[in-house]
Amino acid sequence: MEKKIVDLDWKNLGFGYIKTPWRYLSYWKNGSWDEGSMTEDNRLHISEASTALHYGQQCFEGMKAYRTKEGKIQLFRPDQNAKRMANSCKRLIMPVFPEDRFVKACQKVVAANQEFVPPYGSGASLYLRPMLIGVGDQIGVKPAPEYIFTVFCTPVGAYFKGGLSPVNFSVAEDYDRAAPHGTGAAKVGGNYAASLLPHELAKDAGYADCIYLDPATHTKIEEVGAANFFGITKNNEFVTPISPSILPSITKYSLLHLAKEYLGLKASERDCFIDRLDEFAEAGACGTAAVISPIGAIDYRGDHHVFFSETEVGPITRKLYDTMLGIQFGDIQGPEGWVVEVPLD
Ligand SMILES: *Cc1c(COP(=O)(O)O)cnc(C)c1O
Repeated sequence: MEKKIVDLDWKNLGFGYIKTPWRYLSYWKNGSWDEGSMTEDNRLHISEASTALHYGQQCFEGMKAYRTKEGKIQLFRPDQNAKRMANSCKRLIMPVFPEDRFVKACQKVVAANQEFVPPYGSGASLYLRPMLIGVGDQIGVKPAPEYIFTVFCTPVGAYFKGGLSPVNFSVAEDYDRAAPHGTGAAKVGGNYAASLLPHELAKDAGYADCIYLDPATHTKIEEVGAANFFGITKNNEFVTPISPSILPSITKYSLLHLAKEYLGLKASERDCFIDRLDEFAEAGACGTAAVISPIGAIDYRGDHHVFFSETEVGPITRKLYDTMLGIQFGDIQGPEGWVVEVPLD
């Protein structure tokens, strides 16, 4: 049964926490996950000795549910989030939450909170935050004796209120978000803790965020804040960096596919050197939150490098953005399996 959408100022919604009625929670103990259940309690009750609190043994995911023109609700590639969380878990020796159960849990949470899925046309969506944390009574540095997997959701507004507009970035030269063989490719809180200070410094200097270079040589672009980098070369090739310490963005791999199959461009993963920015006619940052933030300019060692324009988005970046959003909101037919409907009962 479809429920009436709650009355919120959808057009002006930001990226804040709004408590929704229901969340999913499953507990791991003695070698297995329990059957899991929905709860209205938005507080976690965990041991003060939980490894998630002391040693950063935790990981998370981020994805969105979209309402289509017909009123259906759909998720975008949730199987990819399930797979990535499984990889994050393996890196931190945490038990994997089965991938099919992950997707079902997300569907359940969306269905239970369906009146908070923003109306089609508002640009807003329902953000889902699955996470898996080490808990239980233990103070030594080793994997936790117990774990919690939970999924909650909160409605979020369109990232760009006045349409896609480019933003500028600095380059972090004194800080890294991850080590060469650290946890950069796992979606774990520790990487974010490391990024809070450089982010604040970049913000204070007037930038949207900072670009992180490869931690070993500081010559190649890795991440743009908490998003992946891509560039469109002057001969129309979609290029995105490759490195074992980049977080594999699902948006990035989706854009790579769309660039090839929908826009007919060449597309590749390869090194993107910070002193070779002139090879790109357009550049952008990509991730679930904004899908694409066009990069106006990058400041690096006194050079103010402008890509397409500091005020306007380039034509290929716009096309990629429109295609992605079209698929996510159900206006464009996506590749097989990308869109997963949420059963509403
Ligand atoms: C989550 C994340 C991204 C974007 O990944 P998406 O799957 O596209 O949302 C990029 N970089 C970092 C560091 C991230 O944590």
